[in-house]
Amino acid sequence: MKLNQSVEEIPGVGPARALKLKKLGIRTIEDLILHIPHRLLDYSNVAPIKDLKIGQTATASGQVMSSQNVFTRSGKVFQVVKISDGENSIEAIWMRQPWIVKNLSAGTYVTFSGRIAFWGKKKVFMFPEYEDYAVDSLNTGRLVPVYPETEGVNSRWLRKIVKQSLSGLLIKDFIDHNEIGMKSLSEALHGVHFANSTKEFESALNRLAFNELLCLQIENNLKKLWWRQNTKSLSYSVDESHIKKFTENLPFTLTETQLNAINDIAVDLNKNTPMNRLLEGDVGSGKTVVAAFGVYMSFVNGQRSIVMAPTQILAEQHYKTLGKILSPFGINTALLTAETKSINIKHHLVVGTHALLFREETVKGSAYLVIDEQHRFGVKQRAKIANLAREKTVPHILTMTATPIPRTIALTLYGDLDLSSLEYLPKGRKKIKTWVVPPAKRRSAQNWIDEKIESDGAQVFVVCPLIEESDSLMLGQVKAAKKEFERLKEVFKTRRIALLHGKMKSKEKSEILSGFRAKKFDILVSTPVIEVGIDIPSATIMVIEAADRFGLAQIHQLRGRVGRGEKESYCLLFTESRSNKVKTKLEAVAKAATGKQLAELDLATRGPGEVLGIKQSGSAELKIARWDDFELIIKAKSFAEKVVSNQKKYRKALNYYRKKQKIAN
Ligand code: ADP
Ligand code: MG
Repeated sequence: MKLNQSVEEIPGVGPARALKLKKLGIRTIEDLILHIPHRLLDYSNVAPIKDLKIGQTATASGQVMSSQNVFTRSGKVFQVVKISDGENSIEAIWMRQPWIVKNLSAGTYVTFSGRIAFWGKKKVFMFPEYEDYAVDSLNTGRLVPVYPETEGVNSRWLRKIVKQSLSGLLIKDFIDHNEIGMKSLSEALHGVHFANSTKEFESALNRLAFNELLCLQIENNLKKLWWRQNTKSLSYSVDESHIKKFTENLPFTLTETQLNAINDIAVDLNKNTPMNRLLEGDVGSGKTVVAAFGVYMSFVNGQRSIVMAPTQILAEQHYKTLGKILSPFGINTALLTAETKSINIKHHLVVGTHALLFREETVKGSAYLVIDEQHRFGVKQRAKIANLAREKTVPHILTMTATPIPRTIALTLYGDLDLSSLEYLPKGRKKIKTWVVPPAKRRSAQNWIDEKIESDGAQVFVVCPLIEESDSLMLGQVKAAKKEFERLKEVFKTRRIALLHGKMKSKEKSEILSGFRAKKFDILVSTPVIEVGIDIPSATIMVIEAADRFGLAQIHQLRGRVGRGEKESYCLLFTESRSNKVKTKLEAVAKAATGKQLAELDLATRGPGEVLGIKQSGSAELKIARWDDFELIIKAKSFAEKVVSNQKKYRKALNYYRKKQKIAN
């Protein structure tokens, strides 16, 4: 048998079973032996019948003395099988399994594994696993694997065919396992199914997890290598004096991490390999000014720049702030949106929306590209803008995100990028007071908000998630926001309330936002998808409806839209949920700290797809390894570096990776 053969090649597996296995994602023999148990039952406590104790999970063997259906007065039927080890006897009890009586006929030798309990006044095996007595047992008397199951495929049957397949396979390792100090592939594959101790299981699993992580890391390293070998960019002349001149002309002092990021960028721009850097930082951490440094350096080197934002509003905001930062240096900035007819190519910087993707004449030849909120653009769109810009050389690219990236993810999914993080918020930013508001306190919270508007002129954001799961994301959110808008008009009768949602025309959106900025409204009800980076310093209260539906990091991001001005700011997390778990979770946001810590928390409970908003991306799914296994991720990363830099020596590992790649695509 071979790993890539269909499961139908296994004796005893026909087309019908094969179809059922497919439901578990198992097509090949390899899929089958990588179908990892999610639990181990410990049946290793083997004892003589006389030593079996109530409450224990234990194993005992003996000869079947009697085997029968027993009818109770209440009309129930039990299967009762009595065994004896020559000195003592015990019964085993089942319900609704009449075939057992036939399977375990008197005179045969059997083993039972299960819980010892009272049945009436008798001490019995309650619903035990059973098996013909054998030295190398599979279902009893040992650690027994329990697999994810489906109808027609139970763990008992899986154990049998997994064992059969493993014994028919010659498994060769693709690395020298001593070099990584782990189990060999063959040991790992056996150990993960038929371990003799949980320790053996764990270390077997660890090796398989390593394989999975290794493939991700090899991919990253190959990408980086390709990038180094096949792309060329303009090497800028950059030195300390440029950084000094730039920072001295800013209206504020940069934070330490902003300066570090600017230094990273300076080093990148000096190379003739294009920069491929991700700038990560909480909302309000000041990414824009860091990106502006690259625009400045491009200008100094006689090059043009592009900044692309995911929405018109953000593009307009960048246009204003970048213009303010850069015009003192003599850099002129233009705005390009879908509505812009033509643009003067002599501009040093063009800020725009997706519309840039269709303006080759504007983009071509730009040597520095910034993509803000990079996750809101597809991979293809990012590649397209880079290609449009490409002339003789490839542009330097800086992508930015406010989504905090847990460090293990940074090392894997984003492993082909270089990363700079803005860890601290600029000085003077106050902590936003955050409360979780249960249903009973909703009314007093509303009164409090009303009072704040009255006495303080506070401005309020209200963000709503979607209401019905059945709706498409966007429509559901629009509906929820509209409903809340109507409700709030009743609650806050004397206040001026506006509605903002993703289905509005961009002109309408801009008008409402400028209205809000100009204090024409007190309350702005909106959907969560829009305007992540919006900067309205006068807004001081953020209300999040049904906060339990959001990820922690997302709540943190939304909260970051307030607290941008001088005044004390507040965040109210409304929830209808009465669950304590939800409450504890939301309290974590109230207490925290950085977006990064919350993202790490989210990662443990929701997985990376949810955390990063890349649900559709299959690459975010790990089958065996765990996202929080920092140590193993580092180990796989450093081994992958060796593999890619010494491809001849590690040919087999590369082949393993390529084969996996082929199957995945
Ligand atoms: P984000 O990282 O969310 O894109 P911005 O770049 O929009 O954040 O910056 C948020 C606000 O903070 C802007 O008004 C910006 O001018 C200001 N800012 C940035 N860096 C600093 C700093 N070091 N000190 C004071 N204010 C700063
Ligand atoms: Mg921003």
